[in-house]
Amino acid sequence: MTDQLNEFTNENGCPTCGNMLTSAVKYTWWGGFIGPKLLHHTKCNACKFTYNSKSRRSNTSGIIIYSILLFVVAFAMVFFINKK
Ligand SMILES: [Zn+2]
Repeated sequence: MTDQLNEFTNENGCPTCGNMLTSAVKYTWWGGFIGPKLLHHTKCNACKFTYNSKSRRSNTSGIIIYSILLFVVAFAMVFFINKK
């Protein structure tokens, strides 16, 4: 077992307030358990800002892309089920 907190904690801290205490987000309403893991979703413990710990930027565009992908996959599944 690796320490999740240390793995995701960035040595430069939060991009907005510089706070060193950040934690990996395990679950979000938009991505369930997989989405935040794919996007390296990290939350600052001080200002609650969420960002990508790899790119050190806000994950907003990533969340939009993830949502569109989910929608396309869901649409394709419905399409193929109805085709039969
Ligand atoms: Zn912060």
